[in-house]
Formats: sequence, C-alpha cells, structure tokens
Amino acid sequence: MVGAGEKVDYVFKVVLIGDSAVGKSQILARFARNEFSLDSKATIGVEFQTRTLVIDHKSVKAQIWDTAGQERQPLPPPDNVVSHPNLAIWLARRYRAVTSAYYRGALGALLVYDITKRQSFDHIPRWLEELRGHADKNIVIMLVGNKNDLEEERAVSTEDAREFAEKENLFFLETSALQATNVENAFQTVLSEIFKIHS
Ligand code: GDP
Ligand code: MG
Repeated sequence: MVGAGEKVDYVFKVVLIGDSAVGKSQILARFARNEFSLDSKATIGVEFQTRTLVIDHKSVKAQIWDTAGQERQPLPPPDNVVSHPNLAIWLARRYRAVTSAYYRGALGALLVYDITKRQSFDHIPRWLEELRGHADKNIVIMLVGNKNDLEEERAVSTEDAREFAEKENLFFLETSALQATNVENAFQTVLSEIFKIHS
C-alpha cells in the first residue's frame, strides 16, 4: 500500500464488464476496500474506485470502473422493443455515447461471468466484441469466472472457459468475491501486464 499524499507514477484505468448480477461490484468492493455484501444492490452513482499499489518500485493507481446507473447491455435494444423512430435514434446515440465514455482510455478489462449461470458465459463473445470495438488495441483482458465458491451449482466447466480464453488470447482465472479467492491475483495480473506494456 501507498500512504496518502505520496506521489503516483502511473494511473491505469481498468473496466469491469459482463452481465448483470455476475458479481462485478462485489469483485470491485473486495479489491478496493476488502469488503463483500451478499445483498448488494444494482450499482448506482459511483463510477470508479481506486487503489494504489506498488509494481516494480513504482506506485500505480488502479482506477477501476464499474457500471453506474442502470445496467448496460452489450448491444443496443432490439428494434422491435423501440417503436418510435426518434426514440430509437436517441437510444442508439445514447448507447454509443455511454459506451464510448466507459471504455475511453481503458488499458485493462475484467470480463466477468458467473460460473453458475451458463447464459452469462454465452454472452462473453458479445462483451468481447464490444470491448474490442471500443478500447485501446493493446488492452489487457482477463476472463473471470466468478462465484467459484458455488461449486455444486456450477454450469460452466473450467476447461471450457480456459479453452475459450486461449483461443481469444485472454488471461483467465476463476474467482470468489465472497471468499476473496483470486480477486487480488486477477487485478495484479492485469495491472502488471499493463505496466509491462506502458512503463
Ligand atoms: P453485478 O451486477 O455484476 O455488479 O453483481 P453484484 O456484485 O451486485 O453481485 C450480484 C449478487 O451476487 C449479489 O447478491 C452478490 O452478493 C452475489 N455475489 C457476488 N460475488 C459473489 C461470489 O463470489 N460468490 C457468491 N456466492 N455470491 C456472489
Ligand atoms: Mg454492479
């Protein structure tokens, strides 16, 4: 840890993405404040949290962005949901503006699914597409299978996820924000890799 008022050598922005309720906010709470809450509410207000750590004798401030306001979805609403043409245009613009702001300047990403929710893993390619369409071309991406404390409810095998990660050139870890398993490891890996690229 680095004390208050000490100099910061680098600030790295990292974004959290993935379906609603996979545990993004709890992963961030664990990393930034070493806290966890079982009845966490959908994220409102806070756009990012920071934690400063030391990598190679340099102080690195990690600025971790979490979804603020209503949950974002990887794609704009389908046309049939929006009937009024002006509203459709407005929503599409708003979607693009919010999405670009979220990814702007991000050097790392945690792409999170819930190992007990198959659908959250099946949506990963869409999140990856959105990420690659908006972020820095050198962005460091970690695929994160969260809630691995719920082994008896597992719906995504570690092998499937690892295979996908290898194919797509992503780092991969399973985590538990609840038990604090691999959360530190996931951020450390991403931040060290960013450091190698940008220092
Ligand atoms: P978000 O919508 O992706 O930000 O998800 P949240 O962080 O709000 O978490 C959604 C729910 O899953 C909450 O009830 C959390 O307490 C719970 N949760 C998050 N991480 C874990 C975990 O590692 N294990 C278990 N068992 N529950 C978790
Ligand atoms: Mg959240």
